[in-house]
Amino acid sequence: MRLKYKRAAAAALAALTLSGCAGRQAEEKLQSGDAPAGTVPAVTSAWSEETAPESVTEALTTSAPVTKGPEAVTTATETGDGYTVYDRSEVRYSIDTVNVRELPSTESKVVGQLNPGDEAAVTGYTSTGWLRISYNGATAYVFGQYFSEIKPELPEQEVVIPEGYYFSSPADYFFIVNKQNFLPEDYAIETDFVQGSYELEIVAAKHCKDMIAAAEKDGIELKVLSAYRTVDYQKKLFERNVNSRMEDDGMTYDEAYYDVSINIAPPGGSEHNAGLAVDIIDKNHWDTYTAFEDTKEFEWLYAHCAEYGFILRYLKGKEDITGYIYEPWHYRYVGTEYASAVMASGLCLEEYIGQNET
Ligand SMILES: [Zn+2]
Repeated sequence: MRLKYKRAAAAALAALTLSGCAGRQAEEKLQSGDAPAGTVPAVTSAWSEETAPESVTEALTTSAPVTKGPEAVTTATETGDGYTVYDRSEVRYSIDTVNVRELPSTESKVVGQLNPGDEAAVTGYTSTGWLRISYNGATAYVFGQYFSEIKPELPEQEVVIPEGYYFSSPADYFFIVNKQNFLPEDYAIETDFVQGSYELEIVAAKHCKDMIAAAEKDGIELKVLSAYRTVDYQKKLFERNVNSRMEDDGMTYDEAYYDVSINIAPPGGSEHNAGLAVDIIDKNHWDTYTAFEDTKEFEWLYAHCAEYGFILRYLKGKEDITGYIYEPWHYRYVGTEYASAVMASGLCLEEYIGQNET
């Protein structure tokens, strides 16, 4: 291990020397590591040969591009802040929760975060172990130690249901929320992230993440466009639209309310407020909602959503019953016990539940 570490450091220094930078500077920079936002402790002193822990040396030799040596160096760019970055284009995967920074230094501003398994488009690296990446269309830096060449297999995450949780059994998820059936006053859920900043109710979130991951394995790239929306948010959205119709179009309140409710669910009347609905489309063509039906991504979702407890909710030809236009992108979590039967029935949820109640 120690040997490997020495080789890595030597390669880094060699790379640096190649571009004519001072070795002294390299030594100083080697002292700094970037601790991820999460649990891993800072490794600021771990870079000296004596104290380097096994994990650090391992990470350096397996994932940090500095180990590849000077022969791979093509061109170098100065950031203007005293850092030299060597150009290299490759993909790396985050193995931890990692800070994304403006510059290759722990002193630099945190501009974002990458989560375990996230892909990073690397455009270069520094001799000090930082990776320059393209992040949300801008240039940013992450510490190379937390990145791997291969996508890590993430451990299966258990959903922890809090004591006295609103949903006490899988069957509890099988209910109707629509423009006539609002969420009860005491509706309260825990949420979890599914993709980016989008959240769903914890059980629905777990299944949604599994579904997106399974799709990816089949070469299907899905993008979440909307998920949990709070009732407050829905209220603002709804009221803003009602007001503009009253002010701009001279409608009465009742007229405006009716008109708005054709497209937007009233507060508490949306499955998105319940945290049980997700709008998903093709990652590579996410600007076209209506054309989603004709994609292989839709075909995959239609075939597999029920396995994860989701149903296609607003069906073609059922607009009068659901109160919504056909939405090939809107999926509702009802639980794995029911989803297949509902999907196979060809009925919308209002019809299915109505039929099974009588
Ligand atoms: Zn939706």
